[in-house]
Parts: sequence; C-alpha cells; structure tokens
Amino acid sequence: MTKAGIIGNGVAATAAIRELKTLDSDIKIDVFSDERHAYYPKPSLMEYVGGVRTQEEVIRYNQDWYENQDVNLHLATPVTHIDAGIRSLTTPSKIYTGYDALLLAVGSYPFVPPFEGLDKKNVHVMRTFDDAIDIKEAVAGAGREIIVGGGILGIELAAGIKKIGGDPIVVTNVDRLLPIQLDGGASEILRMHLENMGVTSLMGFTCTGVVGDDAAAGVVSSAGDSIDGDLIVIATGVRSNVELARRSNLTIRRGIEVDRFMQTSAPRIYAAGDCAECDGEWYGIIPWALETSKIAARNMIDHGSARFEGITPANTLKVAGIDLTSIGKVHIETPEYEQIISVDREKGTYYKAVIKGNVVVGGISLGNRQVAMRIRQLVTKAADVTDIRASLFEPE
Ligand SMILES: Cc1cc2nc3c(=O)[nH]c(=O)nc-3n(C[C@H](O)[C@H](O)[C@H](O)COP(=O)(O)OP(=O)(O)OC[C@H]3O[C@@H](n4cnc5c(N)ncnc54)[C@H](O)[C@@H]3O)c2cc1C
Repeated sequence: MTKAGIIGNGVAATAAIRELKTLDSDIKIDVFSDERHAYYPKPSLMEYVGGVRTQEEVIRYNQDWYENQDVNLHLATPVTHIDAGIRSLTTPSKIYTGYDALLLAVGSYPFVPPFEGLDKKNVHVMRTFDDAIDIKEAVAGAGREIIVGGGILGIELAAGIKKIGGDPIVVTNVDRLLPIQLDGGASEILRMHLENMGVTSLMGFTCTGVVGDDAAAGVVSSAGDSIDGDLIVIATGVRSNVELARRSNLTIRRGIEVDRFMQTSAPRIYAAGDCAECDGEWYGIIPWALETSKIAARNMIDHGSARFEGITPANTLKVAGIDLTSIGKVHIETPEYEQIISVDREKGTYYKAVIKGNVVVGGISLGNRQVAMRIRQLVTKAADVTDIRASLFEPE
C-alpha cells in the first residue's frame, strides 16, 4: 500500500498513524480533522479544566509531529462524503483521491436528551478542547455549576470545577453514580468521598429542562423540583459518529459495522475507535480505540494480517484523592456468576470481585490502588482463585 487516508484525529487516528508508520515508513498518509487543534488526549481536558495543565500542555502532538513523519494533517477540514467505490474523500474545498485504504476514526458526539431550554446561554457539553476552554471560562463567572449526568465524565468534570473554585452539583436520573461501572454499594462510598471534597450529588433527579431568561438559571425535573445554577453541563452519554458513513452507504448499527479485521461493509475502508462496532461490541473508551485502530492499521497494510479478539473494558476515575477502578463484568444478572464484596465505610473502601467458574471476570476497587492492581491482574490472567478466595483483596 502506498497511500492511506484517515478521517478524524483523535486517539484512534494517531494510534493508527504510529502503527502504519512502524510497519511501512514510506507510506503516505493524509489525516483530516474537523477540529482546529492538533492531537490532544481527551483526559487532558479534565486536567485543563482543573487547572493542572495549560492550553499548550494539552496538545500532545503538534504540527511538527505530523511533518516529521511526512504525514499531511488537514485541520479544520471536515470530510463530508466518501465515495466507497473509488475511495475518494470530499471536503468543503476539494476532493482527495488515490487512496489504497481509508480509516474512519471519527469518534463520537455527546448525546443530549431533548430538554427544554437548551438554547439558553451557558449550557454546554464536554467533548472537545474548545468545549473545555468554554467551560473553564464560564466557571469563572458562575455561582453554581450543575452537571447533568453522573457518569465518569460528569464526576471528573465536577471535581475539576471544584478544584478551580466552583461549586458544582451533579444530578442524575438513576439511583447511583457511574451506573455502568459501579453497583449501589460502591456508588454510596464514592458519594461519600465526593461529599468530603465538596462535590454534591443528587440521585433520582430526572432533568427535563433548563430554565432562565436569556441565560441559564437552573434545571427542573419531571417531578417539578428545581435547582438554581448558572452554568449547566450536559454529560448524559455519547453516540457514535455514524452520519458520514451512513451518507456514504456503509452499513450502520449502533456504530459503523466492522468485521474482525475492522473492515466496514466496503472493501479497504476500515473503522476504529468510538465510531466502530464489532460483532455487537462497542465501548467509548481509550483501550477500545487503541486496540481497534492497531488492528485496522495492520489490515490496511496487509488485509487479513490481524484479527480483533475483543478487549476487557476497564475504567479508572481520574479524580485526585479517589482511587477507583472498575474492570470487566461488575453486574450480576445470572446464577453462574457469584460475587465477593468487602466494604469498610470508615476507611472509605469498597472491593468487589465477580467470579465465574472460580475465575475472576470483573471487579471494583475503590480506595486502594494496590487492590485495584490485584483485581486487574486476576481478571487479565484468568487464573483459578479456588485457593485464594479468602485473600482475594490482599495486595501481593
Ligand atoms: C473529557 C473526556 C475525558 C475522557 N477520559 C477518558 C479516560 O480517562 N479514559 C478512557 O478510556 N476514555 C476517556 N474518554 C473517552 C475517550 O476519550 C474516547 O473513547 C476516545 O477519545 C475515542 O477516540 P476516537 O479517536 O475514536 O474518537 P475521538 O477522540 O472523538 O476523535 C474523533 C475525531 O474525529 C473528528 N471528526 C468527526 N467527524 C469528522 C469528519 N467528518 N471529518 C473530519 N474529522 C471528523 C472529531 O471532531 C474528533 O476530533 C474521555 C472522553 C472525554 C470527552
């Protein structure tokens, strides 16, 4: 292969560039991003909001990184159409042709429920560097910040806002925080830690709208409750960016459908990261983006050379002072799974291992990094734990 086109410039795209260049240093690559910034890792945005990083420190790969590898980076250049038959790309100013393989690494976008009043000033989402810049600026003039959504993004953002002097409250429609990664017990301990840091969270608040005149002045719930606040951030999940693929007649499910080689329904057109769905599996996390893009890149060079075998999803909450990791299966729905739980409210720790056939297949560790590493190891090794059940949470 001599020429590759990559649409998107997030972690999936940059991991693919590294892999392509390792396999073939002569390959020509065009990268198209609809953003104005070069590559930044999204977790750094939280550090920017929390005052740990400057804007300059957020950018991981500047233009030089691309130039040094002979990669053409087209910033602020959205791809609006792909001709799958001849693998050409249309942008607002030009049509690019001659690609041997293409990679869609277009990520995902924030899902915003159809709330009333979304058009008011100071209602934000948090996805891009520009979103983070806007939110940080808005915190400076805000009295109280309301984060709608109690997932990882919402909690990390609230902690960052607190760090720079804000007064955040997190509201969620369900009965616990991080509902995908935690059970009720772990969520309770997490809430305790957050309260101690000055981050309030309110469960069972089904937000239906933003109130205020020109600018946001608060949110209301389906039960008629209201909370005052002048900065609202909606963090209610993400959806894959599938529009470009749909318009280009590629097969779509929840994400862009790919096979185990990360190939879409069109030959030599691949997808990876948040936008890709493989065999019904999809995660909006960095480990997924890294693994799927590596597989895609290998197949772009030599189709059939690498097969995706799945990942074990893992999430770590990045809030200073709170050590929280959730890995693999944490919710039990059927009898073949059992769970071992150890809680110490005084110490603020919560450990859980989910076991199937004497093998740990998932778990939660809140409050101790060593235990988190231990659970991670047990899950990764898939070792038989029959003889160590009593000491599962004792760090080695
Ligand atoms: C603030 C924040 C913090 C996070 N922290 C973590 C974390 O700690 N750990 C973790 O595992 N995950 C985290 N995530 C999730 C993680 O960042 C994503 O899973 C990851 O970024 C997905 O990478 P991607 O390359 O698939 O997509 P993205 O990073 O979304 O990149 C896709 C890029 O493609 C661009 N694009 C879209 N359409 C077009 C088009 N038509 N033409 C050109 N460009 C286009 C988009 O603008 C975007 O720049 C975080 C997410 C956010 C928002």
